[in-house]
Amino acid sequence: MAKVVVMGGGVSGHTAATFAKKWLGDEHEVIVVTPNSQWNWIPSNIWVGVGQMKKEDVVFPLAPVYEKAGIVYKQAKAVSIHPEGKEDSDTPYITIEYTGQGKQGQTEEVEYDYLINATGPKLNFDATPGLGDGNGQLGPHTVSVCTADHAVHANNELQQILEKAKTEKLKVLVGTGHGMCTCQGAAFEYIFNIDHEARKAGVRDNLEIKWISNESFMGDFGIGGLHLKRGGYAASSKLFAESLFVERGVDWLIGAHVSKVEEGKAHYELLDGSEGVEEFDFAMLIPPFAGVGLKAYAKDGSDITDELFAPNGFMKVDADYTQKPYEEWKASDWPRTYQTPKYENIFACGIAFAPPHSISKPMKSPKGTPIFPTPPRTGMPAGIIGKAVAHSVCDLIKEGSSAHLHEASMAEMGAACVASAGKGLTDGQAAALTVYPVVPDFEKYPGIGRDLDYTFGEIGLAGHWIKHILHHMFIYKAKLNPGWTLIPE
Ligand SMILES: Cc1cc2nc3c(=O)[nH]c(=O)nc-3n(C[C@H](O)[C@H](O)[C@H](O)COP(=O)(O)OP(=O)(O)OC[C@H]3O[C@@H](n4cnc5c(N)ncnc54)[C@H](O)[C@@H]3O)c2cc1C
Repeated sequence: MAKVVVMGGGVSGHTAATFAKKWLGDEHEVIVVTPNSQWNWIPSNIWVGVGQMKKEDVVFPLAPVYEKAGIVYKQAKAVSIHPEGKEDSDTPYITIEYTGQGKQGQTEEVEYDYLINATGPKLNFDATPGLGDGNGQLGPHTVSVCTADHAVHANNELQQILEKAKTEKLKVLVGTGHGMCTCQGAAFEYIFNIDHEARKAGVRDNLEIKWISNESFMGDFGIGGLHLKRGGYAASSKLFAESLFVERGVDWLIGAHVSKVEEGKAHYELLDGSEGVEEFDFAMLIPPFAGVGLKAYAKDGSDITDELFAPNGFMKVDADYTQKPYEEWKASDWPRTYQTPKYENIFACGIAFAPPHSISKPMKSPKGTPIFPTPPRTGMPAGIIGKAVAHSVCDLIKEGSSAHLHEASMAEMGAACVASAGKGLTDGQAAALTVYPVVPDFEKYPGIGRDLDYTFGEIGLAGHWIKHILHHMFIYKAKLNPGWTLIPE
């Protein structure tokens, strides 16, 4: 019997674990180690953050789902990886620390034959003074929608702002809280949902709503922007994004590294080197992401964390990590199998793998501060990569080490993204975008790096309905309800 251990039960890890169990059956064991008792459909946190959904609508308990699937569930966080075992045993294992199941704080060693790292991001609030509380958590001055609990808190604060805006002029600031953030899409959705709610509440005229972002141009979205086919012509995402902001009366400040946050103030440095302060009454600033801080040790106990992980804490896989200038970046730099180079039985998927470099062009201020988006790994790629990795692991178990590994390069993969711009059955709106490939391939598609036949975008009510239907479909799938495998990632 082989043991597959999946660290992280989010979008990518849950996909990997559930498919691995389905394909391996009872002959082999699949174990999920994840610190939360509940699964969260993170994209719908946006709607929790404006009071249009409750926390219960976007989460469900993991234990019954894993019990139904026959997956061993350990509510714990992984702490360290020991790929060569220890002095008296060659069996690789991880150490975990329980966060629930009545064993909080207890540690355990969990042996594995195959290990999948799907631990997602550490929300690195403390990278910006004042954005965090100094203990790794969200600080007191801003809100976040990155977790369901954050979104509940954000909505409580927002409702007070909407109430106060009935009688006074207030300012809302939404965007990225550091020069090296990703996930601009989530902030984009949140700012337009606030605009939508403020209009519904009749207080929009009393709210100044402003966007602050590390993108060097509007519509970069961490993928270096894109060109979209719209009604027979190609429009740049810059034009697309700027139009949406102008139509809604939302001003913007871009190329910004938020360097410090204080009560009602965000200090920033811009790409041209100038500095300034944005004042606010309410701010949602996305934190930068890092790896979750797993350590790795060799058989003799020596620290080999640097061999398995990049300095940002993400796991090194089969990418080309050679440092080279932007002009020399290639689609082939991006990983295909997500297997770690040193250990054939360790893989990383979703946000947990280390990208070879950003997708957006790297930029620095004259003072040397890097200000550009780091690469997003959104839900669809995270799910597709998780499934491909599970497939490879299952084939390795069934066919042995000569099995062909499954590939899912982000430079050969399309992604669909439906960004909400306001919730409502008849007045909702969402921008539906497809991009192919996610990482541009300028050799294959000279000029814009993408295939225009498969890269398009449109905003409207239909997009909102799609987003709402996807919410129900993905939660249905994650609960492993009948026919779940038919729903694509
Ligand atoms: C507000 C918001 C809105 C978004 N909207 C969209 C959208 O509309 N469309 C879209 O495609 N994408 C969206 N995304 C991105 C999407 O949520 C991510 O791409 C996706 O969740 C990544 O999957 P993942 O499995 O890599 O990480 P996660 O889903 O974050 O899962 C990581 C898991 O690992 C667990 N973990 C952490 N530390 C450890 C540890 N030490 N040991 C074990 N487990 C650990 C975590 O608890 C979590 O369960 C959004 C993100 C945010 C924050």
